[in-house]
Amino acid sequence: MGAIPVYRWRLAPDGLATRRQLRAAGLRPGGQDVAAQLERPRRRRGPLVAYLYRIEAAKPVRPMTAAKWAALARANAARRRCPECGRDAGYVIPLSLGVCTPCAFPDDGQVAA
Ligand SMILES: [Zn+2]
Repeated sequence: MGAIPVYRWRLAPDGLATRRQLRAAGLRPGGQDVAAQLERPRRRRGPLVAYLYRIEAAKPVRPMTAAKWAALARANAARRRCPECGRDAGYVIPLSLGVCTPCAFPDDGQVAA
């Protein structure tokens, strides 16, 4: 592999985009090699570097399959389920609490039954 071209920040030629820019357009590099790199000089530090990919060689972001969505939903449901009362809290259980807020703060805002 030869050296890749280096452009100054904001002076990249058309047809090239960073991974983030591709992602914003629903694209991904798709296995292509880095086509060029951008360098933004910084004072007293090494330049900030961004890699550029060819837009024409980019591929659409692989769509989520039904199985992937189901797995994601299961993972989210597990993270919402309170290990103390077993209920779906409706939000992801905070790691700092480890249980849903009614379990963590039984008297909080509740009229005694
Ligand atoms: Zn609970």
